Amino acid sequence: TGQPEVHGFQTEVSKLLQLMIHSLYSNKEIFLRELVSNAADASDKLRFEALKNADLYEGDANLRVRVSADRDNNTVTISDNGIGMTHEQIIEHLGTIAKSGTAEFFSKLSGDQASDSQLIGQFGVGFYSAFIVADKVTVRSRAAGVAASEAVEWQSEGEGQFTTRKIEKANRGTDIILHLKEDEKEFLDDWRLRSIVTKYSDHISVSVEMLSQEIPAIEAQDEVKDEDGNVVTPAVEARDAVPAQWEPVNKATALWTREKADVSEDEYKEFYKHVSHDFADPLLWEHNKVEGKTEYTSLLYIPSKAPFDLYNREKQHGLKLYVQRVFIMDDAEQFMPTYLRFVKGLLDSNDLPLNVSREILQDNKVTQAIRKGCTKRVLKMLEKLGTKDKEQYQSFWNEFGQVLKEGPAEDFANKEQIGKLLRFASTHEDNSTQNVSLPEYVERMKEGQDKIYYVVADSFEAAKNSPHLEVFRKKGIEVLLMSDRIDEWLVSHLTEFDGKTLQSVARGGVDLSKLDDEETKEAQEKLEKEFDSVTARMKEALGDKVKEVKISHRLTDSPAVIVTADDDMSIQMQKLMAQVGQ
Ligand code: ADP
Ligand code: MG
Repeated sequence: TGQPEVHGFQTEVSKLLQLMIHSLYSNKEIFLRELVSNAADASDKLRFEALKNADLYEGDANLRVRVSADRDNNTVTISDNGIGMTHEQIIEHLGTIAKSGTAEFFSKLSGDQASDSQLIGQFGVGFYSAFIVADKVTVRSRAAGVAASEAVEWQSEGEGQFTTRKIEKANRGTDIILHLKEDEKEFLDDWRLRSIVTKYSDHISVSVEMLSQEIPAIEAQDEVKDEDGNVVTPAVEARDAVPAQWEPVNKATALWTREKADVSEDEYKEFYKHVSHDFADPLLWEHNKVEGKTEYTSLLYIPSKAPFDLYNREKQHGLKLYVQRVFIMDDAEQFMPTYLRFVKGLLDSNDLPLNVSREILQDNKVTQAIRKGCTKRVLKMLEKLGTKDKEQYQSFWNEFGQVLKEGPAEDFANKEQIGKLLRFASTHEDNSTQNVSLPEYVERMKEGQDKIYYVVADSFEAAKNSPHLEVFRKKGIEVLLMSDRIDEWLVSHLTEFDGKTLQSVARGGVDLSKLDDEETKEAQEKLEKEFDSVTARMKEALGDKVKEVKISHRLTDSPAVIVTADDDMSIQMQKLMAQVGQ
């Protein structure tokens, strides 16, 4: 064995450790979920690598995870024979946080335990959760294909630094040894441990094993009779002791290959946490086997909370990809459009080759067919939620609505379907809650109204108080009040819904005359003639600053308003372009 090397944790890791130990105290058993989950990932990765190089199995392709407790030494060990880690890998993977938006995450922490533990759940803590129950963690690992003498040991007390050293390890894979804190000894209890392992591993596709109870040997005993010749104690045959043995405690079948009816709600939820690295329960999911021209199984989840880096379009996202039940890659983004980047879950394809790469996926008919199917499925699932459970849908919208608004620009084919999912604030309730759907708006449209009216402004207050709204309010015509940054972008792509044009009330061409009676029309025409000379003089005075000056029928209280011609860029769009430097 080599000399120990001392390394410092990345600053964020130290912070995370402190935070975790304090805020996850009430939910400490999740350390097992995280460690079993990592062990299962390590098995998946080995299977994948072994597709190209079967030697990596070293004659042992029977992958399993073992969990055991040692009362004498006060330790719990999670051991796998998966891919393992090299010296370099262990320093990188168990010393830093390889996650986009880490800095942002830390900047959001408030010091308030309740809200911070919420955040930490979204962030996901993974391996470091070991320190919730352990005051020292030892990791011994040997990467597949590496010599037994080149294995590595990692050790830390979770306070700023860790050590590594070279060790000898005969078996491939990783052992995580938790030296339990004084008051966490409950995890040594076989029954307790077993119930947690079962809870967190039923959905795991690799076998998770625990030791059975040892059955002691029994010595032979002669029959004993009383005076009357009745048998008081029957004879007992001698039996050897049955040593404790490893036995599986989970179903160890890939959850998604099981029949829907055989998978419980809890199993779906736990599986979500495994694939998404999220702590919270998902909002919604759908599990489908698709047969026919392309055959695949999809298990798609909508999270209940948005990740803090949702708006980073570059962030890794996508589904976990399996081919014929073999794990291929994480974050296969080719199967989900960017505006659905919050969707988590997995795909198992029967049509893609096992040696599929990101490059192959890029320009592939199978990929396209699956992407189309999955996109439709998610849109349908959301539509269903929107009609079935308004409250839940609202909570979805509050988390992910802004991203969904990118949809019409990105996904022309599904525009109408996406349109149904959008929610807006409007003059109907006149508050800032975005809860009006386009179909609802259409249903409330006035007799003779053929357009969907909206106003876009910098803030909800500005939208609500826009002078452009005066005539609409007077006539009782509902107007959508938009004030999100993305809204102008949205309406420049979603120009129609249900056969009705979306029309900005700030555009010159707003014509409400169809809604007027003959009398009003005549009065207006008269007014226009009367003021002809006034508008002409104003145009002369303003010169090139305006295109034209017109008598308006859309104002009731304000004397004048600036509008954009139908074919010109809107004021909001001009601002947006200026912001991005155009
Ligand atoms: P995540 O699982 O989200 O990547 P973790 O903190 O759980 O984050 O683990 C960090 C990394 O450490 C993993 O991505 C993996 O590379 C490595 N790792 C953890 N546990 C194991 C293990 N049992 N075998 C091999 N690698 C592991
Ligand atoms: Mg993990």
